[in-house]
Amino acid sequence: MLCTTNLVAVLRTRTSPAQRCVRYTLYGVKVQEPVQADQLVEIVERYNLDIWSYASLEREGLILVAPELKQVFEDEISAIGVTYRIDTDNIKEKLDLEDMLMAEAHKRSNASRSDRFGLSFDVIHRWAVVDRYLVDVANRYPRVARVINGGRSVEGRDIRYLRLSSDNFATRTKPVIVIQCMLHAREWVTLPVALWAIQELVINVTDQDLIRDIDWIILPIANPDGYEFSHTRTRMWRKNRRAGQFPSSCIGVDLNRNFDFIWGTASSSSACSDTFHGPRPFSEPEAVVTRNILNEFRSRISLFLDVHSFGSLILFGFGNRQLPPNALVLNRVGVLMAQKIDAVKWPQNRDYRVGNSAQILYTASGTCGDYAQIAIGNGLSYTYELPAHRNLNNINGFLVDPAFIRQAGFETWEGIKEAARYVVRNRL
Ligand SMILES: [Zn+2]
Repeated sequence: MLCTTNLVAVLRTRTSPAQRCVRYTLYGVKVQEPVQADQLVEIVERYNLDIWSYASLEREGLILVAPELKQVFEDEISAIGVTYRIDTDNIKEKLDLEDMLMAEAHKRSNASRSDRFGLSFDVIHRWAVVDRYLVDVANRYPRVARVINGGRSVEGRDIRYLRLSSDNFATRTKPVIVIQCMLHAREWVTLPVALWAIQELVINVTDQDLIRDIDWIILPIANPDGYEFSHTRTRMWRKNRRAGQFPSSCIGVDLNRNFDFIWGTASSSSACSDTFHGPRPFSEPEAVVTRNILNEFRSRISLFLDVHSFGSLILFGFGNRQLPPNALVLNRVGVLMAQKIDAVKWPQNRDYRVGNSAQILYTASGTCGDYAQIAIGNGLSYTYELPAHRNLNNINGFLVDPAFIRQAGFETWEGIKEAARYVVRNRL
């Protein structure tokens, strides 16, 4: 059972979501052979545990386990030779710490608010604030910004994105770059990446070539229902909020398994799983919004970035270990981006790694990045996994230290700029 993911159980027990996280343990797990990684995933699926990061030969994994499953989990992974350590004994303390740091950051933010237009980078803004901001940007900068309503989420929220262009997308030879964030609800640190790009392309405009030579599509919150739910009820929510289909009462489809590329081959058919792929490809309106963007501009999209967290990784296709025909260029530009980010990153964060998603992370099907790669042909499609910044208070994983929000936006933009100029220079 995931930490606080089952709304029915929450209502039945009348406990707050945070209370239900009490004494959940975050384990660090190490594998010595590839087969152990697969066996570990099988155990996680069997007990419906919450994988924060997958274990590989090079990197420790992180798995969140409910108190009643701790003993059986330790026994099962020991039996297959996987070693473990306890990373965080009671994850509730870390959730409370994030709450406290965010509340303090909000207070400071409100106290120092200036008249300057734009969203601040000291807090994580809610969906309604971001949604309003997109409209405000388009109203204030009509020559470069248009707001598009791409569709509605399962719960009826608008999924808006910005089209940024010096000539309203009229020059058909200009490359188009797409930045998408928050497809997974709990990955809050990705939002500042979209907001930073908007700030630099529309408000500050210090690099004029980027808006002169390129047309941009920026979708800050691709999964608004899940995102809001992660603020109001369940911090560790990942999926959208599709209601359970009888006989299952479990809620949500993993939008990053719902795209139509080798759909259903390396994902879960169980509605209770965090990687549930849905009843069919593109069953979810949130995934359809992205598909429509890709279809509309497929011949012009040179770079597609689906931004996730965490792991400090820049990944390309495909999720079944096969490489796209342009894998060499994908790897080269991925490394260029990683080097730019690493040059300005905080020293305590690890260097970025670049590579095929299945080789350095895990096999997966129906992902947005893979579907985009097929759609845009020779263009470059990447899935970013932003850093899990570990501060002095030892917040890590999906939880966000407010001090890192500005840096996440700034440093990732350094990488994006590098790839943007590459596609212009090389007419990709
Ligand atoms: Zn993700």
